[in-house]
Amino acid sequence: MIPLAQSTDHAFVLRAALFAARRHADQRRKGKDREPYVNHVIEVAERLAHSSEGNDAVLLAAGFLHDTVEDTETTPRDIETEFGHEVAQLVAEVTDDTALTSAERKRWQVARIALKSRRAQFLTIADKTANVGSLVRSAPADWSRTRIVAYGQWAESVVGQIRGMDATLDAGFLAAMAALQQRFGSTAD
Ligand code: ZN
Repeated sequence: MIPLAQSTDHAFVLRAALFAARRHADQRRKGKDREPYVNHVIEVAERLAHSSEGNDAVLLAAGFLHDTVEDTETTPRDIETEFGHEVAQLVAEVTDDTALTSAERKRWQVARIALKSRRAQFLTIADKTANVGSLVRSAPADWSRTRIVAYGQWAESVVGQIRGMDATLDAGFLAAMAALQQRFGSTAD
């Protein structure tokens, strides 16, 4: 028998999964395998579920929803209406400012990560781990080795600042980075 509070949390998290699947329905990852985009957010949520905060329904829901504002027509208001203030706040924390260039966004993430909430930091580690893993499995066809290695170095410069909160998340990121370096080397030139 599952306690009611727990089944309510499951329903909440699965509603977020369904919302994300619908919003990302027509999107594919940039990798050469063109995986459905939703695979990425499922992986991020799954990594969070294995962390020490795996019972936090807000964190898991935000794991599913974390790219909806950045990459789909979804607004922060939509997230707030559907999933409440805490989830909307967390998704906002991990959403880049699309007015910035890609290089500016990358610098901004490095500069801001240590100031973010613990949940946002957990989510960021899971997200970067999934992205690095995607590059190992299925890098975009037009990405050079140099670009792939530089992405790994940038991911490390973000995640390296927030290591030590969760052994499982840290181990996942380090394993993904080790696979990236084994495949593509560790110097970008
Ligand atoms: Zn993501």
